[in-house]
Amino acid sequence: MTTAGDTLPVQRRPRPAAKPLVLVVEDEAALTTLLSYNLEREGYRVTAVRDGEEALLVADEERPDLVLLDWMLPQVSGIEVCRRLRSRPESRNLPIIMLTARGEEADRIRGLDLGADDYITKPFSMTELLARIRAVMRRIRPALADDNVRFGDITVDRAAHRVRRGERDVHLGPTEFRLLDHLLQYPGRVFSREQLLDAVWGSDVYVEARTVDVHIGRLRKALNGEGEADPIRTVRSAGYALDETFDAR
Ligand code: CA
Repeated sequence: MTTAGDTLPVQRRPRPAAKPLVLVVEDEAALTTLLSYNLEREGYRVTAVRDGEEALLVADEERPDLVLLDWMLPQVSGIEVCRRLRSRPESRNLPIIMLTARGEEADRIRGLDLGADDYITKPFSMTELLARIRAVMRRIRPALADDNVRFGDITVDRAAHRVRRGERDVHLGPTEFRLLDHLLQYPGRVFSREQLLDAVWGSDVYVEARTVDVHIGRLRKALNGEGEADPIRTVRSAGYALDETFDAR
């Protein structure tokens, strides 16, 4: 029996893992077409935009998994887009690969200084670009590639739905397991309650945002034994993230 105030989800199935979304920011239409075609063939979803302002808007709205960012763009330059993305908490860890026609070492270093994860100089081969993207994705989202994930002293066997902390078995409900699994795919990235609802519960059913707080609370209670550090960071007025410093312990 459920009461009127009961907003906890009872029968919700996990969503199938979504294809990673790549945001392509490039003003040359022919190159955009070529990139989109090849990325989609590799199993990515693609959103393409032509200028920097639009890139910043779309990055905010669609939360891509990776950005391919052309250096030379009309109005707001690629380097400025990179800087602005890095200055926002929600995109601080968003992987960015810069596309540049400039070969000068100083410019490359400037790009990497401003937070690009990698750069590739035009003209480039599609094979090389796709390899770079795979490498960045593996580095940023190692959990995607592996059934066994380790984060600090927490280990997750995704196939068996088994979680351990140190030598101790951690018993999680299905929702807490999916929450942890989702956060593990993006260490350090801050998710709003709405984003977590969408990723873990699915966007088709209405659930109150505070439900996320309830399940985060349960996850913490199950994970954190007496005197153990909390791997989950509460980011005031933003949401939750896995604490990257926890993994470095
Ligand atoms: Ca350009």
